[in-house]
Amino acid sequence: MAINKFDIYSFWKDKAITNIFEVKNYADCKEKEEAFPVIEFSDDICCWACGLPSWIISDEKISELDDLEKDWNNEKSLQKAHILAKSLGGPETVNNLFLLCPTCHAESPDTREITDFFAWVYYKRKNENYITIMYKELERACKMKNIDIQIVIDYFSSIDYDKQMNLRHRIIKNCSVHGSFVSISSKMMALLSVILKDISKEIGKH
Ligand SMILES: [Zn+2]
Repeated sequence: MAINKFDIYSFWKDKAITNIFEVKNYADCKEKEEAFPVIEFSDDICCWACGLPSWIISDEKISELDDLEKDWNNEKSLQKAHILAKSLGGPETVNNLFLLCPTCHAESPDTREITDFFAWVYYKRKNENYITIMYKELERACKMKNIDIQIVIDYFSSIDYDKQMNLRHRIIKNCSVHGSFVSISSKMMALLSVILKDISKEIGKH
């Protein structure tokens, strides 16, 4: 029987990665090992490298979390990534599979050394949380389109939750989908276009 994502979660839920990129039980880690638990909260379904929440990937409403197994197995969210690549003989076993968002899955290393994979995860966890990445992408998109990022920051601080959700829908409508996944640069470019439209409407009113 094929391994599902809940099986993978069940194996990894008490594991951690140490600063020399070893996988251990989190409970056995010493402070000097500066270990990261692979999963921080069992019901917080997010990419195990960048922390991107699953509901952003799958564009679904956050469930009531009454069925953990169903939530982890949601087909549209995290992807099963091989730690040692299939092409290098990596097996289809829970200890060789890891759950990642589509962006991290594409970026993760495929080498013969499995410590390379864990070194990459450790670095991502420490330095490249999805919020940092999104901010950098937003900055980059602003430069491409000659927009002052401060205008975008001010805009975000001025809108409420309903407006944010409305913004999300308009961004999704403005992006064309490559496969099942919208690239972060498309999202950021679309986001800027939508914001600029809103801002120019506001200016028009005055
Ligand atoms: Zn990720």
